[in-house]
Amino acid sequence: TTVGVPKEIKTLEHRVAMTPDGVRELERHGIDVFVETGAGEGASITDDDYRAAGADIVPTAAEAWSKQMVVKVKEPQESEYGYLRPDLTLFTYLHLAAYPEVARALIDARTTGIAYETVQVDGGGLPLLAPMSEVAGRLATQIGAHYLERHNGGRGVLMGGAPGVRPAKVVVLGAGNVGWNSAWIAAGMEAEVVLIDKNLDRLRWVDQIHKGRIMTLASNRGAIERSVAEADLVIGAVLVAGGRAPVLVDEAMVSSMKPRAVIVDVAVDQGGCIETIHETSHDDPVYEFHGVVHYAVGNMPGAVPHTSTYALTNATLPYILDVAVHGPEEAARRDRALALGINTVAGKVTNEPVAEFLNDTF
Ligand code: NAD
Repeated sequence: TTVGVPKEIKTLEHRVAMTPDGVRELERHGIDVFVETGAGEGASITDDDYRAAGADIVPTAAEAWSKQMVVKVKEPQESEYGYLRPDLTLFTYLHLAAYPEVARALIDARTTGIAYETVQVDGGGLPLLAPMSEVAGRLATQIGAHYLERHNGGRGVLMGGAPGVRPAKVVVLGAGNVGWNSAWIAAGMEAEVVLIDKNLDRLRWVDQIHKGRIMTLASNRGAIERSVAEADLVIGAVLVAGGRAPVLVDEAMVSSMKPRAVIVDVAVDQGGCIETIHETSHDDPVYEFHGVVHYAVGNMPGAVPHTSTYALTNATLPYILDVAVHGPEEAARRDRALALGINTVAGKVTNEPVAEFLNDTF
Protein backbone atom coordinates (compact mmCIF):
# COMPACT_ATOMS: atom_id res chain seq x y z
CA THR A 1 0.00 0.00 0.00
CA THR A 2 1.03 3.61 -0.55
CA VAL A 3 -0.10 6.40 1.78
CA GLY A 4 -0.31 10.11 0.89
CA VAL A 5 -0.28 12.97 3.40
CA PRO A 6 -1.45 16.23 1.77
CA LYS A 7 -1.00 19.67 3.32
CA GLU A 8 -4.24 20.87 4.96
CA ILE A 9 -5.86 23.73 3.06
CA LYS A 10 -8.86 24.63 5.25
CA THR A 11 -8.50 28.20 6.58
CA LEU A 12 -6.31 28.39 9.67
CA GLU A 13 -5.84 24.60 9.87
CA HIS A 14 -2.21 24.08 10.85
CA ARG A 15 -2.32 20.45 11.96
CA VAL A 16 -1.04 17.57 9.83
CA ALA A 17 -2.29 13.95 9.76
CA MET A 18 1.02 12.20 10.42
CA THR A 19 4.20 12.77 12.43
CA PRO A 20 7.72 11.58 11.49
CA ASP A 21 7.40 8.74 14.04
CA GLY A 22 4.16 7.73 12.30
CA VAL A 23 6.02 7.60 8.98
CA ARG A 24 8.69 5.40 10.57
CA GLU A 25 6.09 2.99 11.93
CA LEU A 26 4.38 2.64 8.52
CA GLU A 27 7.66 2.27 6.61
CA ARG A 28 8.68 -0.47 9.09
CA HIS A 29 5.58 -2.36 7.95
CA GLY A 30 6.55 -2.01 4.31
CA ILE A 31 4.20 0.88 3.54
CA ASP A 32 5.53 3.81 1.50
CA VAL A 33 4.55 7.25 2.74
CA PHE A 34 4.43 10.35 0.52
CA VAL A 35 4.21 13.71 2.29
CA GLU A 36 3.39 16.92 0.40
CA THR A 37 6.14 19.48 0.82
CA GLY A 38 5.41 21.90 3.68
CA ALA A 39 2.61 19.71 5.11
CA GLY A 40 4.12 19.84 8.60
CA GLU A 41 5.10 23.50 8.56
CA GLY A 42 2.13 24.74 10.60
CA ALA A 43 2.82 22.13 13.28
CA SER A 44 6.55 22.98 13.35
CA ILE A 45 7.60 19.76 11.58
CA THR A 46 9.99 20.15 8.61
CA ASP A 47 10.30 18.22 5.34
CA ASP A 48 13.72 17.08 6.57
CA ASP A 49 12.14 15.62 9.73
CA TYR A 50 9.85 13.52 7.48
CA ARG A 51 12.69 12.60 5.12
CA ALA A 52 14.83 11.40 8.03
CA ALA A 53 11.93 9.13 9.05
CA GLY A 54 11.85 7.57 5.56
CA ALA A 55 9.10 9.52 3.80
CA ASP A 56 9.22 10.70 0.19
CA ILE A 57 8.51 14.42 -0.06
CA VAL A 58 6.31 15.18 -3.08
CA PRO A 59 5.98 18.68 -4.58
CA THR A 60 2.22 18.80 -5.23
CA ALA A 61 -1.10 18.02 -3.58
CA ALA A 62 -2.09 16.02 -6.66
CA GLU A 63 0.81 13.64 -6.10
CA ALA A 64 0.01 13.11 -2.40
CA TRP A 65 -3.67 12.51 -3.32
CA SER A 66 -2.72 9.98 -6.02
CA LYS A 67 -1.77 7.28 -3.45
CA GLN A 68 -4.02 4.31 -2.54
CA MET A 69 -4.79 5.72 0.90
CA VAL A 70 -4.86 9.38 1.91
CA VAL A 71 -4.76 10.52 5.54
CA LYS A 72 -5.85 14.03 6.46
CA VAL A 73 -7.12 16.10 9.36
CA LYS A 74 -10.08 18.01 7.87
CA GLU A 75 -12.85 16.99 5.47
CA PRO A 76 -11.99 17.49 1.79
CA GLN A 77 -12.49 21.07 0.64
CA GLU A 78 -14.21 21.88 -2.65
CA SER A 79 -10.91 22.29 -4.52
CA GLU A 80 -9.98 18.75 -3.38
CA TYR A 81 -13.15 17.01 -4.62
CA GLY A 82 -11.44 16.39 -7.96
CA TYR A 83 -8.94 14.05 -6.27
CA LEU A 84 -11.70 11.69 -5.04
CA ARG A 85 -12.00 8.42 -6.97
CA PRO A 86 -13.32 4.85 -6.49
CA ASP A 87 -10.00 3.17 -5.61
CA LEU A 88 -9.14 5.74 -2.93
CA THR A 89 -9.46 5.19 0.82
CA LEU A 90 -9.69 8.54 2.63
CA PHE A 91 -9.21 8.57 6.43
CA THR A 92 -9.87 11.93 8.13
CA TYR A 93 -12.41 13.91 10.18
CA LEU A 94 -15.44 13.99 7.86
CA HIS A 95 -18.40 15.32 9.93
CA LEU A 96 -20.75 14.40 7.06
CA ALA A 97 -23.83 15.42 9.05
CA ALA A 98 -22.46 18.97 9.16
CA TYR A 99 -21.15 18.90 5.58
CA PRO A 100 -23.68 17.10 3.34
CA GLU A 101 -21.89 18.46 0.24
CA VAL A 102 -18.79 16.44 1.27
CA ALA A 103 -21.00 13.34 1.63
CA ARG A 104 -22.31 13.99 -1.89
CA ALA A 105 -18.79 14.31 -3.29
CA LEU A 106 -17.64 11.04 -1.65
CA ILE A 107 -20.75 9.21 -2.87
CA ASP A 108 -20.49 10.52 -6.44
CA ALA A 109 -16.79 9.58 -6.59
CA ARG A 110 -17.49 6.16 -4.95
CA THR A 111 -14.60 6.79 -2.54
CA THR A 112 -14.16 4.75 0.65
CA GLY A 113 -14.45 7.41 3.36
CA ILE A 114 -13.47 6.57 6.95
CA ALA A 115 -14.25 9.22 9.59
CA TYR A 116 -12.15 9.69 12.71
CA GLU A 117 -15.15 10.94 14.66
CA THR A 118 -17.31 7.83 14.23
CA VAL A 119 -14.65 5.25 15.17
CA GLN A 120 -16.25 3.95 18.36
CA VAL A 121 -15.08 1.33 20.86
CA ASP A 122 -17.32 -0.93 22.99
CA GLY A 123 -18.90 1.15 25.74
CA GLY A 124 -19.36 4.13 23.42
CA GLY A 125 -15.94 5.82 23.74
CA LEU A 126 -14.71 7.86 20.76
CA PRO A 127 -10.92 7.31 20.78
CA LEU A 128 -10.16 9.70 17.88
CA LEU A 129 -12.20 12.60 19.34
CA ALA A 130 -11.02 12.26 22.96
CA PRO A 131 -7.50 13.66 22.39
CA MET A 132 -8.86 16.92 20.93
CA SER A 133 -11.22 17.27 23.91
CA GLU A 134 -8.26 16.82 26.24
CA VAL A 135 -6.31 19.51 24.39
CA ALA A 136 -9.29 21.92 24.29
CA GLY A 137 -9.97 21.35 27.99
CA ARG A 138 -6.41 22.08 29.07
CA LEU A 139 -6.21 25.05 26.72
CA ALA A 140 -9.48 26.54 28.02
CA THR A 141 -7.90 27.19 31.41
CA GLN A 142 -4.77 28.71 29.90
CA ILE A 143 -6.91 30.97 27.67
CA GLY A 144 -9.08 31.94 30.62
CA ALA A 145 -6.00 32.90 32.64
CA HIS A 146 -4.81 35.03 29.71
CA TYR A 147 -8.08 36.96 29.40
CA LEU A 148 -8.28 37.50 33.18
CA GLU A 149 -5.25 39.77 32.80
CA ARG A 150 -6.29 43.42 32.90
CA HIS A 151 -4.76 44.50 29.56
CA ASN A 152 -6.62 41.64 27.87
CA GLY A 153 -9.96 42.88 29.20
CA GLY A 154 -10.20 40.83 32.39
CA ARG A 155 -10.57 41.56 36.10
CA GLY A 156 -6.83 41.46 36.68
CA VAL A 157 -6.99 38.34 38.87
CA LEU A 158 -4.04 35.93 39.03
CA MET A 159 -5.15 32.26 38.89
CA GLY A 160 -3.04 31.17 41.85
CA GLY A 161 -3.52 34.35 43.89
CA ALA A 162 -0.54 35.18 46.11
CA PRO A 163 0.45 34.25 49.67
CA GLY A 164 -2.25 35.81 51.84
CA VAL A 165 -4.47 36.61 48.82
CA ARG A 166 -7.44 34.59 47.51
CA PRO A 167 -6.85 32.77 44.22
CA ALA A 168 -9.19 33.01 41.22
CA LYS A 169 -12.46 31.11 41.44
CA VAL A 170 -12.92 28.84 38.43
CA VAL A 171 -16.27 27.16 37.72
CA VAL A 172 -16.28 24.34 35.16
CA LEU A 173 -19.61 23.09 33.77
CA GLY A 174 -19.36 19.43 32.71
CA ALA A 175 -16.84 16.91 34.08
CA GLY A 176 -16.25 14.96 30.86
CA ASN A 177 -13.06 14.84 28.80
CA VAL A 178 -13.00 18.62 28.32
CA GLY A 179 -14.21 19.75 31.73
CA TRP A 180 -12.11 17.43 33.84
CA ASN A 181 -8.95 18.47 31.99
CA SER A 182 -9.85 22.16 32.45
CA ALA A 183 -10.43 21.66 36.17
CA TRP A 184 -7.22 19.69 36.57
CA ILE A 185 -5.07 22.43 35.00
CA ALA A 186 -6.88 25.13 37.01
CA ALA A 187 -6.16 23.19 40.20
CA GLY A 188 -2.54 22.87 39.09
CA MET A 189 -2.41 26.67 38.83
CA GLU A 190 -3.64 26.75 42.45
CA ALA A 191 -7.01 28.31 41.62
CA GLU A 192 -10.14 27.51 43.65
CA VAL A 193 -12.00 25.07 41.38
CA VAL A 194 -15.64 23.97 41.29
CA LEU A 195 -16.55 21.19 38.85
CA ILE A 196 -20.25 20.67 38.10
CA ASP A 197 -21.86 17.64 36.42
CA LYS A 198 -25.19 15.82 36.52
CA ASN A 199 -23.45 12.42 36.47
CA LEU A 200 -22.76 11.64 40.13
CA ASP A 201 -20.60 8.61 39.30
CA ARG A 202 -18.32 10.86 37.29
CA LEU A 203 -18.13 13.28 40.27
CA ARG A 204 -17.33 10.35 42.62
CA TRP A 205 -14.45 9.41 40.33
CA VAL A 206 -13.10 13.01 40.18
CA ASP A 207 -13.45 13.34 43.95
CA GLN A 208 -11.40 10.19 44.57
CA ILE A 209 -8.60 11.27 42.24
CA HIS A 210 -8.32 14.88 43.38
CA LYS A 211 -9.10 14.27 47.05
CA GLY A 212 -11.01 17.50 47.62
CA ARG A 213 -8.58 19.72 45.65
CA ILE A 214 -11.35 20.08 43.05
CA MET A 215 -14.76 20.71 44.64
CA THR A 216 -17.53 18.77 42.89
CA LEU A 217 -21.15 19.92 42.75
CA ALA A 218 -24.25 18.21 41.39
CA SER A 219 -25.73 20.11 38.46
CA ASN A 220 -28.93 22.06 39.21
CA ARG A 221 -30.05 25.62 38.67
CA GLY A 222 -29.40 26.80 42.23
CA ALA A 223 -25.86 25.41 42.37
CA ILE A 224 -25.01 26.87 38.96
CA GLU A 225 -26.57 30.28 39.73
CA ARG A 226 -24.59 30.70 42.98
CA SER A 227 -21.30 29.40 41.56
CA VAL A 228 -21.42 31.52 38.41
CA ALA A 229 -22.19 34.73 40.36
CA GLU A 230 -18.97 34.26 42.37
CA ALA A 231 -16.74 33.10 39.52
CA ASP A 232 -13.77 34.88 37.97
CA LEU A 233 -13.68 32.30 35.16
CA VAL A 234 -16.51 30.06 33.87
CA ILE A 235 -15.64 27.22 31.48
CA GLY A 236 -18.51 25.57 29.55
CA ALA A 237 -17.92 21.89 28.69
CA VAL A 238 -21.21 19.99 28.72
CA LEU A 239 -22.30 17.61 26.02
CA VAL A 240 -25.41 15.57 25.34
CA ALA A 241 -24.37 12.94 22.78
CA GLY A 242 -25.91 13.62 19.39
CA GLY A 243 -27.78 16.72 20.54
CA ARG A 244 -27.42 20.45 21.07
CA ALA A 245 -25.59 21.46 24.26
CA PRO A 246 -28.06 22.32 27.06
CA VAL A 247 -28.07 26.01 28.05
CA LEU A 248 -27.07 25.94 31.73
CA VAL A 249 -26.23 29.64 32.17
CA ASP A 250 -28.96 32.06 31.05
CA GLU A 251 -28.58 35.75 30.31
CA ALA A 252 -29.69 36.77 33.83
CA MET A 253 -26.88 34.67 35.32
CA VAL A 254 -24.34 36.25 32.97
CA SER A 255 -25.46 39.76 33.99
CA SER A 256 -25.08 38.71 37.66
CA MET A 257 -21.39 37.93 37.09
CA LYS A 258 -18.57 40.17 38.36
CA PRO A 259 -17.54 42.91 35.89
CA ARG A 260 -14.68 41.72 33.63
CA ALA A 261 -15.10 38.08 34.62
CA VAL A 262 -14.34 35.65 31.77
CA ILE A 263 -16.39 32.93 30.06
CA VAL A 264 -14.74 30.28 27.86
CA ASP A 265 -17.46 28.14 26.25
CA VAL A 266 -15.77 25.08 24.76
CA ALA A 267 -19.17 23.52 23.98
CA VAL A 268 -19.83 26.27 21.41
CA ASP A 269 -19.28 23.75 18.58
CA GLN A 270 -22.53 22.09 19.74
CA GLY A 271 -24.37 25.38 20.20
CA GLY A 272 -22.81 26.39 23.54
CA CYS A 273 -24.04 26.08 27.14
CA ILE A 274 -24.13 29.83 27.88
CA GLU A 275 -27.15 31.76 26.54
CA THR A 276 -25.09 34.83 25.52
CA ILE A 277 -22.46 32.91 23.55
CA HIS A 278 -21.88 33.01 19.81
CA GLU A 279 -19.02 31.36 17.94
CA THR A 280 -15.80 33.35 17.43
CA SER A 281 -12.54 32.62 15.58
CA HIS A 282 -8.81 32.63 16.37
CA ASP A 283 -8.62 35.93 14.42
CA ASP A 284 -11.11 37.69 16.67
CA PRO A 285 -11.63 35.38 19.67
CA VAL A 286 -13.41 37.49 22.31
CA TYR A 287 -16.26 39.97 22.74
CA GLU A 288 -17.76 41.69 25.77
CA PHE A 289 -21.42 41.35 26.78
CA HIS A 290 -22.98 42.51 30.10
CA GLY A 291 -19.43 43.49 31.09
CA VAL A 292 -18.23 39.87 30.83
CA VAL A 293 -15.47 38.71 28.44
CA HIS A 294 -16.78 35.91 26.16
CA TYR A 295 -14.38 33.50 24.36
CA ALA A 296 -15.95 30.89 22.04
CA VAL A 297 -13.57 29.66 19.33
CA GLY A 298 -15.04 26.60 17.60
CA ASN A 299 -11.73 24.86 16.89
CA MET A 300 -9.64 25.62 19.96
CA PRO A 301 -7.03 22.87 19.40
CA GLY A 302 -6.03 24.79 16.23
CA ALA A 303 -4.25 27.30 18.49
CA VAL A 304 -1.69 24.66 19.48
CA PRO A 305 -1.15 22.68 16.25
CA HIS A 306 2.09 21.06 17.37
CA THR A 307 0.59 19.49 20.51
CA SER A 308 -2.70 18.79 18.72
CA THR A 309 -0.94 17.02 15.86
CA TYR A 310 0.92 14.71 18.22
CA ALA A 311 -2.18 14.10 20.39
CA LEU A 312 -4.34 13.30 17.35
CA THR A 313 -1.82 11.09 15.54
CA ASN A 314 -0.99 9.08 18.69
CA ALA A 315 -4.64 8.00 18.57
CA THR A 316 -5.05 7.62 14.79
CA LEU A 317 -1.80 5.81 13.94
CA PRO A 318 -2.81 2.28 15.07
CA TYR A 319 -5.98 2.54 12.94
CA ILE A 320 -4.12 4.03 9.96
CA LEU A 321 -1.64 1.17 10.20
CA ASP A 322 -4.43 -1.46 10.27
CA VAL A 323 -6.15 0.02 7.21
CA ALA A 324 -2.86 0.42 5.31
CA VAL A 325 -1.69 -3.14 6.07
CA HIS A 326 -4.99 -5.03 5.64
CA GLY A 327 -7.08 -2.75 3.42
CA PRO A 328 -10.33 -1.17 4.67
CA GLU A 329 -12.55 -4.26 4.26
CA GLU A 330 -10.35 -6.72 6.13
CA ALA A 331 -9.40 -4.10 8.77
CA ALA A 332 -13.11 -3.46 9.42
CA ARG A 333 -13.75 -7.22 9.77
CA ARG A 334 -11.00 -7.46 12.37
CA ASP A 335 -12.00 -4.41 14.40
CA ARG A 336 -15.60 -3.36 15.04
CA ALA A 337 -14.51 0.10 16.24
CA LEU A 338 -12.96 0.76 12.85
CA ALA A 339 -15.97 -0.71 11.02
CA LEU A 340 -18.10 2.00 12.69
CA GLY A 341 -15.66 4.55 11.29
CA ILE A 342 -16.47 3.65 7.69
CA ASN A 343 -18.94 6.26 6.40
CA THR A 344 -19.01 5.72 2.63
CA VAL A 345 -18.22 2.76 0.34
CA ALA A 346 -18.88 2.38 -3.40
CA GLY A 347 -21.38 5.23 -3.57
CA LYS A 348 -23.34 4.34 -0.40
CA VAL A 349 -23.42 5.78 3.13
CA THR A 350 -22.60 2.86 5.43
CA ASN A 351 -22.72 4.38 8.93
CA GLU A 352 -26.29 4.14 10.24
CA PRO A 353 -26.64 7.37 12.27
CA VAL A 354 -24.89 9.34 9.50
CA ALA A 355 -27.16 7.77 6.85
CA GLU A 356 -30.29 8.58 8.87
CA PHE A 357 -29.21 12.18 9.28
CA LEU A 358 -28.33 12.61 5.61
CA ASN A 359 -31.63 11.08 4.45
CA ASP A 360 -33.36 14.17 5.83
CA THR A 361 -30.87 16.43 4.05
CA PHE A 362 -30.53 14.92 0.59
P1 NAD B 1 -18.06 14.38 27.41
O1 NAD B 1 -19.23 13.60 26.94
O2 NAD B 1 -16.81 13.69 27.81
O3 NAD B 1 -18.52 15.25 28.69
C1 NAD B 1 -19.71 15.99 28.74
C2 NAD B 1 -20.18 16.04 30.19
O4 NAD B 1 -21.30 16.92 30.26
C3 NAD B 1 -20.64 14.68 30.73
O5 NAD B 1 -19.90 14.33 31.89
C4 NAD B 1 -22.13 14.92 31.04
O6 NAD B 1 -22.57 14.20 32.19
C5 NAD B 1 -22.13 16.42 31.27
N1 NAD B 1 -23.48 17.01 31.19
C6 NAD B 1 -24.45 16.82 30.26
N2 NAD B 1 -25.55 17.54 30.59
C7 NAD B 1 -25.25 18.21 31.73
C8 NAD B 1 -25.99 19.10 32.57
N3 NAD B 1 -27.24 19.46 32.29
N4 NAD B 1 -25.36 19.60 33.66
C9 NAD B 1 -24.10 19.26 33.96
N5 NAD B 1 -23.37 18.41 33.21
C10 NAD B 1 -23.94 17.89 32.12
O7 NAD B 1 -17.78 15.47 26.29
P2 NAD B 1 -16.40 16.28 26.06
O8 NAD B 1 -15.48 15.47 25.24
O9 NAD B 1 -15.92 16.76 27.38
O10 NAD B 1 -16.90 17.49 25.17
C11 NAD B 1 -17.58 18.62 25.73
C12 NAD B 1 -17.91 19.64 24.64
O11 NAD B 1 -16.73 20.27 24.17
C13 NAD B 1 -18.58 19.05 23.40
O12 NAD B 1 -19.59 19.95 22.96
C14 NAD B 1 -17.47 18.98 22.40
O13 NAD B 1 -17.95 18.97 21.06
C15 NAD B 1 -16.76 20.24 22.74
N6 NAD B 1 -15.39 20.40 22.21
C16 NAD B 1 -15.10 21.62 21.66
C17 NAD B 1 -13.85 21.91 21.17
C18 NAD B 1 -13.55 23.30 20.66
O14 NAD B 1 -12.51 23.50 20.04
N7 NAD B 1 -14.39 24.30 20.91
C19 NAD B 1 -12.85 20.90 21.17
C20 NAD B 1 -13.17 19.65 21.73
C21 NAD B 1 -14.45 19.41 22.24
